[in-house]
Amino acid sequence: MPLPAQYVKGRAGAHTMDIRYTIKLSRRRKKTICLQVTSPTEVTVCAPIRTSEADIRGFIDEKQNWIAKAVRLESEKTQRRRQPRYASGETLYYLGNLHLLEVAFDPLAHLGLRFDGTRFFLNCPDEIDRKRSCAVAWYTKRAAAHLSGRVAHFSRIMGLEAQGVKITHARSRWGSCSEKNRLSFSFRLMMAPPEVIDYIVVHELAHIAQKNHSSKFWSKVLETVKDYKSHRRWLRDHQHLFEI
Ligand SMILES: [Zn+2]
Repeated sequence: MPLPAQYVKGRAGAHTMDIRYTIKLSRRRKKTICLQVTSPTEVTVCAPIRTSEADIRGFIDEKQNWIAKAVRLESEKTQRRRQPRYASGETLYYLGNLHLLEVAFDPLAHLGLRFDGTRFFLNCPDEIDRKRSCAVAWYTKRAAAHLSGRVAHFSRIMGLEAQGVKITHARSRWGSCSEKNRLSFSFRLMMAPPEVIDYIVVHELAHIAQKNHSSKFWSKVLETVKDYKSHRRWLRDHQHLFEI
């Protein structure tokens, strides 16, 4: 029972105009309709076998905003899942914004990545590993400076003291707090917006008081960061973009 492609109306955004809907009717005792974005142009709708076409259309109509968002995220994922090749015209995330990259090689100038507040400039021989190391070195240096400052700031506010700050290359772990209250943060965190970075700092500092994710822990986080849930969601939705 394929619905016409143009079914979802304009309000949901340009992406959804080309979406193909595949309807799967289930014989099982399933009682609800569910949606799954299977690619940037495809949504699968699972419904109990006796659901009418009108009900399915109504359900899709109701979920337009959700579909638009899920499709946008899915298309971002497929676009940027690959690691950067460090060519001019590519973009890099820094503090939540995308900045254009310009690449050149002048052996007499300082090698490495540079940022002028708007654009990135990479001066490096055309070898992907060396280019990547330049980028990692730059983010790591920025992370060390930024995060030690934010840790000191929130230490005072929360009355909790860390025994040092370390920058790691961790891919999926934004931060951690050791038994001895040493804090570690991934250099990749510098790609996130400042308020998201602050949430991770507060999260790890709160582990000095609570070495778990109990309700006591979350109320400690909540004392300092009111909308931490939106920051967690942001990280979950964007971490696939932070490839270096
Ligand atoms: Zn934690």
